[in-house]
Amino acid sequence: MRVFKFGGASVKDAPAVKNLASIVSASEGNIVIVVSAMGKTTNAFEELIRYYFKKDERKWEQFSQIKSYHNNILNGLFTEGDAIFSETGYLYQKIEERLHRLPSLDFDFEYDQLIGFGELISTKIVSAYLNKAGICNKWMDIRFYLKTDDKWREANIDWELSDKLVKEGFNFDTERLFVTQGFIGATISDLTTSLGREGSDYTAAILGNILHAERVEVWKDVPGILNADPRYFKNPVKVDEMSYREAVELTFFGAKVIHPKTIKPLQNSSIPLYVRSFIDPTSGGTTIGPEQDREYINPVPVFVMKEKQVLITISKPDFSFMDEESIARVFPVFSEMGMKINLFQLSALNLSISIDVPEHGIIELIEKLSEEYEIRYNDNLSLITIRHYTPKAIEKEIGHRRVYVEQRTRSIARFLVKRE
Ligand code: ADP
Ligand code: ASP
Ligand code: MG
Repeated sequence: MRVFKFGGASVKDAPAVKNLASIVSASEGNIVIVVSAMGKTTNAFEELIRYYFKKDERKWEQFSQIKSYHNNILNGLFTEGDAIFSETGYLYQKIEERLHRLPSLDFDFEYDQLIGFGELISTKIVSAYLNKAGICNKWMDIRFYLKTDDKWREANIDWELSDKLVKEGFNFDTERLFVTQGFIGATISDLTTSLGREGSDYTAAILGNILHAERVEVWKDVPGILNADPRYFKNPVKVDEMSYREAVELTFFGAKVIHPKTIKPLQNSSIPLYVRSFIDPTSGGTTIGPEQDREYINPVPVFVMKEKQVLITISKPDFSFMDEESIARVFPVFSEMGMKINLFQLSALNLSISIDVPEHGIIELIEKLSEEYEIRYNDNLSLITIRHYTPKAIEKEIGHRRVYVEQRTRSIARFLVKRE
C-alpha cells in the first residue's frame, strides 16, 4: 500500500480538489490519503482561537469567513441537496457550540479542541467529492486510531496503541482507499490533540510506518525538494535524490518543505518518501530513501532560511569566564520555557544563543536569565544555513549582509544575519 499526503495548497479551491481527484483516479492499488486543512484555514482557525480565548466578539466574524470560504468550495464541487452540505453543517454546529462556551484557562488545550476542524471539514469534502466522482473511498476519523499523550499542540504518539488501532481500522480487505486527516490525534479519553504546525506530513509518515507502506508520497506546489526555499532565494534547482540524513538536516535547519519529524518513522522502516508536484503529477519529484543513503559526489549547495531569530548574549556580571557550570545552568532555562535553540556559540566571556522569536515569554526568559547573568539581545535576525557550501555560494548570499554570528564545519556554514 501507499500513503498519499495532500497539503493545504493542493485543496485550496474547487479546481484544486478536482485536480486531486484526477491524481487519485490515475493511481492504482491500496492507498491512504492524508489531507490537510484547505488553503490557509489553519491560520484562520488560529485567529479564531485567539479571539475566542480573549473573549473577543470578533470570533463570530472570523467564523463566518471560515464558513464562507468552505461554502464557496462546496458550491464549486456539489449540487444543492448533496449530503455533504449537512455533514459540513454538522461540523460548523460543533464549532459554534464550542465558541458559545467559556474557554478554560489553558490556551493550548482550547487550541487543540478547535484547530482540527480545518482537517475534519476538508477531509469530509475531499472524501465526498471522490465518491461523487466514482472514486470509492472510506472517510476515517483519525482520532480513533492515532493516540497521543496530552501535550497539547505538540502531542507525542502512543506508538503501541496506535499501531494496534491503525492496523485494525485501516483494513484493506474491505476497502481500497481511505481518506483521513493529518495533523491531529486524540488522547485515550478522545480529547483532540495536534502534532505541531505542518504536522500532516508527519501523520503520513506515521501511517506509512504502521501500515508498512511501500512508499509515502507528499504532493506539493513545488516540483520536489529544491536546493533553496523559493520564497527567499533566486533560481532554485530541484534535487532529484536525497538521503534521509540530508533531509533531516535540512528540515532541522528550517527548510519548511516537510515537517522535521517526518523522516524518522520512514527511515526506521526503510520506506521511501517521494516529494511530488500536484501541478505536474507526471514529473519525477524528489526521492528520499534507503537507496539514496550514500555519499554525495559533487553535491549542490543547499540554502535554508530561518526567519524571526533573536540572538541572546549571556555573560557574567563580574567579568568572569562563562565556564561549564554557568553554561550548564543556562540551557535548562530555555528548555523549561519550551524555547528551542537554533544555534549557540561560546567565547571567553559570552554565550550567544539564537532562538525563534517566541509568541510570548521572551520577557520572562530575559528576566529569568537576568537573575544571574548580564543579558543583551538583538532581534530582527535571520539564520541562513548553507549545506555543501562553496566560497561562491557564501559570497552570493552572505556577501552583502551584516553577519552577527558565523559557524562552519566541513559541510555546513551558518550565518546569523540582519533581516533584509
Ligand atoms: P503543504 O501544502 O504540503 O503543507 P508546504 O507549504 O508545507 O506544503 O511546503 C511546500 C512549500 O515549501 C513550497 O511552496 C515552498 O515555498 C516551501 N519550501 C521551503 N523550502 C523549500 C525547499 N527547499 N524546496 C521546496 N520547497 C520549499
Ligand atoms: N493544517 C496544518 C497546518 O497548516 C497541518 C499541515 O498542513 O500540515 O499547520
Ligand atoms: Mg506543510
